[in-house]
Amino acid sequence: MPNVLAKPLSPALVRAYKNPQPATVRVAGHYGFNKVRDLMNIFGNLGGLFSSDMAIDLGTANTLVYVKGKGIILSEPSVVAYHVKDGVKKVLAVGEDAKLMLGRTPGSIEAIRPMREGVIADFDTAEEMIKHFIRKVHKRSTFSKPKIIVCVPHGATPVEKRAIRQSVLSAGARRAGLIAEPIAAAIGAGMPITDPTGNMVVDIGGGTTEVAVLSLGDIVYARSVRVGGDRMDEAIISYLRRQQNLLVGETTAERIKTSIGTARMPDDGRGTSMQIRGRDLLNGVPKEIEVTQAQIAEALAEPVQQICEAVMTALETTPPDLAADIVDRGVMLTGGGALLGDLDLALREQTGLAVSIADESLNCVALGTGKALEYEKQLRHAIDYDS
Ligand code: ADP
Ligand code: MG
Repeated sequence: MPNVLAKPLSPALVRAYKNPQPATVRVAGHYGFNKVRDLMNIFGNLGGLFSSDMAIDLGTANTLVYVKGKGIILSEPSVVAYHVKDGVKKVLAVGEDAKLMLGRTPGSIEAIRPMREGVIADFDTAEEMIKHFIRKVHKRSTFSKPKIIVCVPHGATPVEKRAIRQSVLSAGARRAGLIAEPIAAAIGAGMPITDPTGNMVVDIGGGTTEVAVLSLGDIVYARSVRVGGDRMDEAIISYLRRQQNLLVGETTAERIKTSIGTARMPDDGRGTSMQIRGRDLLNGVPKEIEVTQAQIAEALAEPVQQICEAVMTALETTPPDLAADIVDRGVMLTGGGALLGDLDLALREQTGLAVSIADESLNCVALGTGKALEYEKQLRHAIDYDS
């Protein structure tokens, strides 16, 4: 069976891996009147050599790191696995390797997801994870500490924001800037957020769905609901337990969702199907059954409905002129949850709005945060260094 959990690399990621571009120093070949510009180029590039400023999307499900001038060079699950012996914890694996251990750990190993609902739930573990990822991409430079911009959910409290900033600083950053996630998502999706028109972006992540309306580069309305990919996985688990007496783990539920999951009842009333294994609750032994898309659509009806309602509430609360713009321009979906089969169709049917899915929806927030780093001067108002 193909490993559907292994995310396909985005074209940008593939390019970055295949073609890691070292910061090059352009040697000035002449000393005409361009001398000053050449020297400035050399120093500009040297700056790039010594420090690799970064943008981090610290997600509930995935953490992505964007390095200035290079693009996204790391994308791994937000999971840390510890080995616990005599009450002492030692990091065993972080990211992809640690995710494989989730739900499969013996007593001596603990796999933890430090982020819940977009904010840090386990401070020490989050710091370990950030440190690990920064070290992974920041090998070369011993000269200076990087400046790091991290995105935070719009609804994060001052305490939560401080926690994220502290984690990044103690992980080795020289300065830590914060940017609101909906702004980053919209920039990453290529929306014209600085125009004087209403733009709606819906970011569906692991723990939350953030609905935001932006105009003139800032947030007019934003609301976060605690429904996202995790809730969909839970809905599949409880459906199979109730309807099929089958107990499956989170990993299997996520695999079902990403393979045949759909937000809408298939037209033929059944759709495609897949074989899954779990434990029969009646006699406790492993069992294999077939599940259909229609069953998964039924299982996912509630979280899908909650996402649709969040969009409707946003429309109702948005000032009328901006709401009219959104009716004209439609809604942009970002985040991994945007990839759920037919979610765009379901949203369109329920809200009457045109719905598009962003290119590279899993990478949008990281790309947008990265862009904020590259074009910091123009986007200065959106980055917060001091709260
Ligand atoms: P976060 O920003 O919270 O880390 P992401 O935007 O990275 O979240 O999205 C991760 C979520 O998207 C996970 O719950 C994952 O299961 C889900 N996801 C990824 N691919 C798909 C897919 N094809 N269909 C449905 N859900 C998906
Ligand atoms: Mg996210």
